[in-house]
Amino acid sequence: MSSLKESPKARTLCAVSISDYLNMVKKQLEEQPIFQNAGMMKLKAPSTLYLEVTKRCGLHCKHCYSPKNTNTEFSFSEIEHIAHQCAKLGIFKVVLGGSETVLHKNFMGVVNIFSSNEILVDLTFSGFVSNQKLFEVKEICKQSKIATVQISLDSHIPSVHDEIRGMRGAWSRAINAIQNLGEHVPIVVATLLNILNVSKLEEHCYLLSKLPIKTLSILRQRGIAGQNFSPTTLFDIYTSLLDYDRYFKFGITAHDPLFETLKTKPCNCCTAGISSMAISCAQHAYSCPFLYSYDDYYVPYKDNILTVWNLLRREYEIPSQCKNCKHVKHCLGGCPALRVNNMPDPLCWHIQRGSQDGKS
Ligand code: SF4
Ligand code: SF4
Repeated sequence: MSSLKESPKARTLCAVSISDYLNMVKKQLEEQPIFQNAGMMKLKAPSTLYLEVTKRCGLHCKHCYSPKNTNTEFSFSEIEHIAHQCAKLGIFKVVLGGSETVLHKNFMGVVNIFSSNEILVDLTFSGFVSNQKLFEVKEICKQSKIATVQISLDSHIPSVHDEIRGMRGAWSRAINAIQNLGEHVPIVVATLLNILNVSKLEEHCYLLSKLPIKTLSILRQRGIAGQNFSPTTLFDIYTSLLDYDRYFKFGITAHDPLFETLKTKPCNCCTAGISSMAISCAQHAYSCPFLYSYDDYYVPYKDNILTVWNLLRREYEIPSQCKNCKHVKHCLGGCPALRVNNMPDPLCWHIQRGSQDGKS
């Protein structure tokens, strides 16, 4: 098996920017002959797999969606089997995250088995690890075996980040990780939008503009991110974020289809059960990793990706209140994971403002 560096296909994958990659996926999706109304279509296999390889983690985040911080993890042979299935099915990206992937007993082996099968690897990472572990991550980034690293940073104020992440010193380690890895791999900073940081997002963006990052990804799926914002408040927050997106050198995304509806060129941003799925090391498969820990939403993995994909992709439905909305093609009815968390997404600002056709 050729190494990732030697492989022409893998070299091409690692050389693409995030926006080029998203355009590639979008083009692939649009070319599907079975692409139907409102972005619904049926791929024979997902293009992206979110994989939680271990439950180990050193943090205690207030919004954790994989709350059991135990030693449970996939064995290496189970991961090898997953990588071989991905290669066979044409799954071209795996996102390693959920808990702290680099704490898996054989983290280097996990990355190598995917990269040697020419599968693009994205890594989510808190930076809250020993210097030795950070060195290992840096080495593997230098060898181009990881395409992007997503590092959580919730505020420019250290105590705010530490409070959200439940651990003193988390902020300085995250900054250290960004500075160490930024010259070797594109860094995506993940920021959990919540009541503790929402009034200072501009200052947060200013700090990020001084760091080697490519993208800011705004999240708001669980915990303290939950009940704080009405749909109309979110409209104002997202409008400001779009201003920052134009002003600062990095791009801003929000893992929320409603954010996409505000853009001049929106894309179909919810891929759950459409082109992506997730497997946790509890051996549960979901349409989206933000549904981890919801027992009503998984199907047992049972060592076969195709079988669970065929079950999960049929679960995705446009909510009835969205069917006549002109934004539904891009928004796809909002974020199903937020809906499960009873967040205000289903009552989007278009509905709140009495404008279901999206004229507001
Ligand atoms: S369910 Fe929500 S969090 Fe998951 S992919 Fe869709 S928009 Fe993103
Ligand atoms: S009504 Fe709102 S949530 Fe539904 S598709 Fe339209 S913009 Fe999205």
